[in-house]
Amino acid sequence: MRNAVLQLEAIFATAIDAMVVTDAVGNIQMFNTAAEQMFGYLSQEVMGMNVSLLMPMPDSLHHHLYMERYIETRQPRIPRQGREVIAKRRSGENFPADITITDVEQDEGIIFIAVIRDISARKTKEQHIIQLAFFDQETGLPNAYYLYDKLAYLLKEQKSNYHLISLYLGDLTDYVNIFGVHGVKDVIVAVNNLLIDKLPLQSLIVRCGLRHLKIIYAPVRDELLSTEQIAEHLQTLISQPLHVASYHIFLTATFGLLKIDSQQYTVEKLLDHVDIALHFAKHNIGSCYQVFKTEFTENLHRRALIVQKLHNAMNEMPFQLYLQPQISLATQHIIGVEALIRWQDTDGLWISPAEFIPIAETIGLIKDITLWTLKKACAIVKEWQKNTHHQYSCAVNISAQVLCTPAFLHEITMLIVENELDPHVLELEITETALMLSIDTAISTITELSALGISISIDDFGTGLSSLAYLKLFEINRLKIDQSFITHILTDVHDKKMVTAIIKLAHELGYQVVCEGVENKVQLALVQQLGCDEVQGYYFAKPMPSTDFLAFAENFTFE
Ligand code: C2E
Ligand code: MG
Ligand code: MG
Repeated sequence: MRNAVLQLEAIFATAIDAMVVTDAVGNIQMFNTAAEQMFGYLSQEVMGMNVSLLMPMPDSLHHHLYMERYIETRQPRIPRQGREVIAKRRSGENFPADITITDVEQDEGIIFIAVIRDISARKTKEQHIIQLAFFDQETGLPNAYYLYDKLAYLLKEQKSNYHLISLYLGDLTDYVNIFGVHGVKDVIVAVNNLLIDKLPLQSLIVRCGLRHLKIIYAPVRDELLSTEQIAEHLQTLISQPLHVASYHIFLTATFGLLKIDSQQYTVEKLLDHVDIALHFAKHNIGSCYQVFKTEFTENLHRRALIVQKLHNAMNEMPFQLYLQPQISLATQHIIGVEALIRWQDTDGLWISPAEFIPIAETIGLIKDITLWTLKKACAIVKEWQKNTHHQYSCAVNISAQVLCTPAFLHEITMLIVENELDPHVLELEITETALMLSIDTAISTITELSALGISISIDDFGTGLSSLAYLKLFEINRLKIDQSFITHILTDVHDKKMVTAIIKLAHELGYQVVCEGVENKVQLALVQQLGCDEVQGYYFAKPMPSTDFLAFAENFTFE
């Protein structure tokens, strides 16, 4: 027995964990060396004192109540189960601890043996891991994982009237020159500070990428804001100047947003859809934000389908070239055609060039398509030169990406040489926006094309973003007034004024004017009266297969 007691005392004295034994009312009976080191008291100092000494407020106040209840009910709160508590050192410092308490019935009454482990180091590590996992290391802002958890919580709790915003700071890279790569984080922090100050309480700003923030916009109490109102509010906030270092800077931000609806959404869908809204916002003209609409996902699916079909089409080139006549109002004769690509899919449905050409432009396939169109157009013109005494011109639409490639001039020269064409019958239609994309390259290419004898016309004039001051820099032959002006020319006085002004100005600058989309006799009479030189439109003919054109031209009468 004596040996056993000695052994227990040895274990008690040398244990790594603190061990504290108290009587039934919590007065300390034993306090081992590890406890002395952990709490900063000597064993003899605490003997007989109440164990609540080792606890912070308010636990120290209530501790005797816990013990009384346990002795009465034997329902453990701490005894027999380990748990985390906050303990207090002699210095007053609080620290996290793991504690296991065992109660032992003895002849003299119950005693409690507490085994206590200081878990401060573990907690610090955990905190560090949380910091690494859930916060952006550069700015200290919460990150995408944090956002994910927060969204999951909002959905689970079915919180209403919260909004999610995906915000893109497009011109942030401009500030790299001023602040340096790492200094740009200060700009992000400044954006965060500006917004968090003004957003409703409970809102959250999260950094999701180099130039990308996501925001949970919490509802304002007693005020039900619509998604559009929130967008306007954000737009106003973001347009304010930021103070970074000693600079006042203005950022432009684009954002997509949606209302968080727990019935409709999972976290993944929320994140997908808000980024889709942002994607559409980036393509908006005149507005820097976009509220999510369900048709966006359909549009994207359709786009993905066209992308896939276009890639598959590149081997076979299953296109056709249709021709639409252009008529001179002075001579009342057909003077040429516009070549328009047509694509009938394997399922028999036609895919409009208005749909697939812009997609081909963004995925790098427009060059092959344009080359196909040019080859086909050159072959048609060559055929005409052989078989008819007419010299019809043929206009081909050229995208900006193609016009500005270094090889373009060479390719078109080769086609003219190979087909032994008179270059004057070839015309290239370029939209004004395309010209403005890369002005210097466009000017030099067009100058060389003109020198070769190829005509240039500006397509869809009036819809793009060009300025007439720039147009005079290009050697242009014709302006094609966009059909949207002609569609309403009889009813909309502004459209009529626009057409009148464009015709006058174009003539001043020495350009011929073509009106596109003339669909009836009244429109024809009006554009003729306004001085238009040529017309193209359904009134005379829809685009037709190239094989039908010569027969059409033979029988053409101006009516
Ligand atoms: P665009 O160059 O402005 O061509 C005129 C469009 O207006 C054609 O549409 C034509 O069919 C249509 N149109 C002509 N007259 C009328 C009319 O009286 N009423 C109405 N409502 N429409 C009329 P399409 O063929 O669907 O082509 C659309 C656009 O696709 C073209 O506009 C052009 O920008 C582009 N495109 C067509 N073919 C090619 C091509 O081979 N290469 C390139 N890069 N773009 C092409
Ligand atoms: Mg055109
Ligand atoms: Mg056009």
